[in-house]
Amino acid sequence: MADIENVIIVGSGPAGFTAALYTSRANLNPLVIEGWMWGGLLQQTTDVENYPGFPGGGIMGPELMQKMRDQAEDFGTRFITDLATKIEPGRDGEPHTVWVGDDAYRARTVVLAMGAEHKKLGVPGEEELGGRGVSYCATCDAAFFKDKPTVIVGGGDSAMEEAIFLAKFASKVTIVNRRDEFRASKIMFERARATENIEFLTPYVVEEFLAGDGGALDRARLRHTESGETRELPMSGAFIAIGHEPQSEIVDGLVETDEDGYVRTEGRSTRTSLPGVFAAGDLVDHTYRQAVTAAGSGCQAALDAEWYLRDNLAVQTPAALEGTGDLAEEAWLPTSPS
Ligand code: NAP
Repeated sequence: MADIENVIIVGSGPAGFTAALYTSRANLNPLVIEGWMWGGLLQQTTDVENYPGFPGGGIMGPELMQKMRDQAEDFGTRFITDLATKIEPGRDGEPHTVWVGDDAYRARTVVLAMGAEHKKLGVPGEEELGGRGVSYCATCDAAFFKDKPTVIVGGGDSAMEEAIFLAKFASKVTIVNRRDEFRASKIMFERARATENIEFLTPYVVEEFLAGDGGALDRARLRHTESGETRELPMSGAFIAIGHEPQSEIVDGLVETDEDGYVRTEGRSTRTSLPGVFAAGDLVDHTYRQAVTAAGSGCQAALDAEWYLRDNLAVQTPAALEGTGDLAEEAWLPTSPS
């Protein structure tokens, strides 16, 4: 069996790369299992205008992720560009084992930062027509639908953002929402409404995506949620933007999760129910789900992992952490309400 790692980070969005940056700067020599498509959901976006530090129009999502990865690498982070397939718990301070296919990596601490993925509608035709008209990422695929009629399903900020981007390419974008009210913020909704070739169709749900003669998406059958009336809407592209679900399958049953599959953490810390395993980013966060909040929680996870390595008597303290700082328990004390 190979050496025991101090920290293995599973996932490579802002949370994972920030945890890597912090633990590498603490000389813990972290190993990141970054998946095939490293960079998380920001790899699929264009302009990021709300990540601090980039005035004058922001930064492109993939460029931001490349910079985060490079910065972590500058301090010695190592990467495995493959998927973690299983995690086995070590008991009583024994190392945990992270499997990548047939390869086992043992670690004293593990930071879970697998993020979230696009939610599916679960209707007939959705899976079959994936890559042939049905997509979850307008910023990735919009260019394929130049001057074609398209649809966005959903009514949140993502739906508005995707629609505004898609409208630059498509002849028309119809936003199909299941309610007359929109969950999107007023500013995003108004931007979409002010875009000439964006229309709204409510309250409708998609019942089925249907192919044309060539096998590509041609139309969808929609149902009015109040009257039950159904109608067919022609379209070449359909983009589903109905939120995200956490990628917690590999830790199912290993750490506590909530009813939606988000990993539960203790209080304001990133500690999961399994000692030595910490969780950060969209895997944990129902609410904020921003690049900057994910990065912030990746930093917290790194510090929690450091403190665990330094102060837990059942775990060997890495030389880099010997004699540093106060006992972590003091930082972990619950804050009393004022
Ligand atoms: P969201 O806010 O959860 O919105 C999901 C939308 O999809 C809602 O309109 C929801 O309808 C609808 N929906 C969910 N399940 C559905 C189903 N099975 N069939 C039909 N419709 C369904 O998700 P989001 O838009 O991805 O945004 C997530 C977070 O990221 C939010 O906090 C958002 O503000 C933020 N965000 C911000 C920006 C920005 O500011 N630039 C951009 C993107 C995202 P109901 O309302 O009826 O539930």
